[in-house]
Amino acid sequence: MPSAPTDTLDRPVKDLRISVTDRCNFRCTYCMPKEIFNSDYRYLQRAALLTFEEIERVARSFARHGVTKLRLTGGEPLLRHGIEELVARLAAIPEIDDLALTTNGALLGRMATDLAAAGLHRVTVSLDSLDDSVFMGMNDVAFPVQNVLDGIGAAADAGLGPIKINMVVKRGVNETSIIDMARHFKGTSQTLRFIEYMDVGTTNGWVMDDVVSAKAIVETLDQEFGIEPIAPTYRGEVAKRWRYKDGSGEFGVIGSVTQPFCGNCTRARLSAEGALYTCLFATSGTDLRSILRQNPHDEELDQTINTIWTNRTDRYSETRTSLTGSVTKVEMSHIGG
Ligand code: SAM
Ligand code: SF4
Ligand code: SF4
Repeated sequence: MPSAPTDTLDRPVKDLRISVTDRCNFRCTYCMPKEIFNSDYRYLQRAALLTFEEIERVARSFARHGVTKLRLTGGEPLLRHGIEELVARLAAIPEIDDLALTTNGALLGRMATDLAAAGLHRVTVSLDSLDDSVFMGMNDVAFPVQNVLDGIGAAADAGLGPIKINMVVKRGVNETSIIDMARHFKGTSQTLRFIEYMDVGTTNGWVMDDVVSAKAIVETLDQEFGIEPIAPTYRGEVAKRWRYKDGSGEFGVIGSVTQPFCGNCTRARLSAEGALYTCLFATSGTDLRSILRQNPHDEELDQTINTIWTNRTDRYSETRTSLTGSVTKVEMSHIGG
């Protein structure tokens, strides 16, 4: 039985994010810009994807190393055929007490009940504005807000809560939607989280000027509603939590760019083709697929995961401003955010 390793900065591994596909039915401009992710783009072929059995083996190995939290992501995870079967396999791992999925919500209306029945605990739904013209411009496939709201409703009805709502804030694009979004979700059981626009990948043309800082987001909300901070509940909590002074609930702000939290980063990420990344901003991963396909037993898998985590040094967000030159970072749609 492997022990629970800590990395070179004394961080344990608690949380595994599993990308199940690199495809998506949206083309969010900050994630999969149409100019790059068009019909010429080479997505992973089916044989390259980890099978559900292989994903389960990796998840079980991580559980033996201390992981208690799994999140399915993508691309758009609900596009992966038979995802409910994977959910059921992962839900059966005894160490896992939190099984979540991040989705754009487009298919949630028709899939929420089956996902809940398969054993999914909760969903996070991404929604960047309540204004159709803003949202359609951001998802770039003219997908309407109401369909996402219907998906959120279906997830709530299916018991897939507490539901979190992720809103990426990009300057000049949707910062005017901050107050509307806060007002809409305030007083509901859904917790809104504002996310700083990040420099993941190399295709979204990120520049610092497009980032609306966590501080600016908080000031905007404080002026409108009156808010106060809430103490974090656990190590590795990435969102700083705030509550409305009128008692109508809370929201989170994820300041990955201006308020890095690498010191508490307990996450590993598995890409759809089985590469393991220990940082969202990694330039390369470790191929676990070959190990899985060459070894019917899990000793080498366990050993590899243990060695990778023990040697981990990642703290990209704390060092980004001192880095110079261009590096080829993995795309968000590849490892899932
Ligand atoms: N397709 C699903 C979705 O959109 O929820 C799951 C995958 S998506 C890559 C996961 C999360 O990453 C979403 O909440 C999305 O808004 C966020 N994201 C994508 N690109 C980002 C960026 N450049 N900066 C900050 N967040 C980003
Ligand atoms: Fe697709 Fe999610 Fe990326 Fe948008 S953020 S393009 S929905 S993977
Ligand atoms: Fe974790 Fe890397 Fe993000 Fe730092 S930059 S919090 S190490 S994923």
